Amino acid sequence: MMRRLGRAWRSSAWRLAALLAGAWAIGLWLHAAAACVLAATALAFGYHVLRLARYARLLAGPQRMPAADGSGIWDEIQNATRRRQRAAVADKRRMVQLLRAFRDAAAALPDAVVALDREHRIEWFNAATADLLGLEYPQDLGAHLPNLVRAPRFTEWLRREGDEPLADLPSPLDEERRLTLRLIRYADDRSLLVVRDVSQLMRLEQVRRDFVANVSHELRTPLTVVHGYLDMLEPEQIPEYEPILHELRNQSRRMTQIVEDLLTLSRLEARNDLPQERISMRPLLEALRREADALSQGQHAIVVELDDRHDLLGSTKELHSAFSNLVTNAVRYTPAGGRITLRWQGDADGGARLAVTDTGQGIPAQHLPRLTERFYRVSTSRSRETGGTGLGLSIVKHVLQLHQARLDIRSEPGVGSTFACVFGSERLLEPLALAEAP
Ligand code: ADP
Repeated sequence: MMRRLGRAWRSSAWRLAALLAGAWAIGLWLHAAAACVLAATALAFGYHVLRLARYARLLAGPQRMPAADGSGIWDEIQNATRRRQRAAVADKRRMVQLLRAFRDAAAALPDAVVALDREHRIEWFNAATADLLGLEYPQDLGAHLPNLVRAPRFTEWLRREGDEPLADLPSPLDEERRLTLRLIRYADDRSLLVVRDVSQLMRLEQVRRDFVANVSHELRTPLTVVHGYLDMLEPEQIPEYEPILHELRNQSRRMTQIVEDLLTLSRLEARNDLPQERISMRPLLEALRREADALSQGQHAIVVELDDRHDLLGSTKELHSAFSNLVTNAVRYTPAGGRITLRWQGDADGGARLAVTDTGQGIPAQHLPRLTERFYRVSTSRSRETGGTGLGLSIVKHVLQLHQARLDIRSEPGVGSTFACVFGSERLLEPLALAEAP
C-alpha cells in the first residue's frame, strides 16, 4: 500500500517537474519565463482542484468508488479508497453472517431466551419462548414482559431482579408444565431471561418422593410387628440370648425411628404451606428446656435466654419438632459437664432467631455445608451410639424453608456449635400482652 503510494507520489512529482521545466523552457524562448511558469502552475493547481472535487463527489455518492487506471497520486488515492471500501463491505458481510449464525444458535436453544432492557421491555426472544411463555413474534417485541406473563410470583421476582432462580413456575400456556427462570444481567442495564422446562425433572423428583414415602410406609407395619414380638420376649426366660435380644430391640427401634423420620420428611416435602398459628416463645422454650433436661439427666447446664418482644407465626407442631431436634443434638454431641443455651432474640434487620449454643465437640468447617443433607453425619459412630438417624437436620431445614426461614450454623471444633433458626420480620408478631397494653 505504502509502496504504491510512494510510486504514485514520485510519478506525480516528476510530471509536475516536467510541466514546470517545459513551461520554463518555452518561457525562455518566448522571453516570458515567469508568465509561462505561472501559467503552468495555475494549470497544475486547476487539475488538482478538479480531481479533488471529483474524488469528493465519488466518495459522497451512493456507488462504490470506481477503479482508476492512471498512475498519478489521485488515481492511487481513488484505488486505495476503493480497496478500503471493499474490505469494509467484506467485514460487514462477515459480521452479519456471524450475527445471523449466533441468532440461529440462540433461536435453536431448547430453553427460552428473552433479552430485556432496563424497564423489562422485550428486545428480542427466541423460538422456544413462544412455546414456554406464549410470546408472539413480532407483535410482542417492545412490550413490557410483566404485562404478558401475569403471575404475581414472577412479577415480584422480576421486580426484585433476584439473583437466585425462580423455581417451579407453571407455564402461562399450560399449568402442567413447570418452568425454572434465571435472570442474567449483562451490559449495565440489560438482562437476559432464561427459561427452562423442568416438568420432566419435577416428575422424576415426584417419583423419587413417592417411592421413599411408599417404602417407608410399607416398612412401618412389618417393623411394628417385629418390634411387638421382640417386646414380648422376656430376656430372663432365655438368658443365653439376652445380649442378642437387647441388640435386636435396639436395631428395630432405630429402624422404626428412621422410617418415622423419612415419613416426616416426605410429609414436609409434599406441603407448600403450614398452619399459621401464634407461637408464644416463653412456654415453647420452657418445654424445650424440660426435654433437654430429661435427655441430659442433669449432666449439662441448660440455660434459657428470652427476649419476649416477639411471638412467632407458623406451625407450632413443626417448629417445636425442628427446635427440639436442635436441642436434642446439642445434648447428644456435648460431653457431660457442658453448657447448652437456648436463646430467642431479635436481629438488627427486624427479624429474630432461635439459637441453640453448646460447648460440645464442634464440627470441622468442611462438613458445615453438607450437614443438612439426608444421612450426612460427621461421625457415624457417635450418631448411632446416641440414637441418631442422620435425618434430624434435614427435617429442620425443611420446616424452616416452609417458614421462609434459614438455618445458620457456626461451629468450632473443641469449642462448640451454634445452630440458629433465622426468621424474617414477616414471621414475627407482637406478643398479645404487649399488643393489648394501652
Ligand atoms: P443425627 O441423627 O446423626 O444427629 P442430624 O441430621 O441431626 O443427624 O445431624 C447431622 C450430623 O451433624 C450429626 O451426625 C453430627 O455429626 C452433626 N451435628 C449435629 N448437631 C451437632 C452439634 N450440636 N454438635 C456437633 N455436631 C453436630
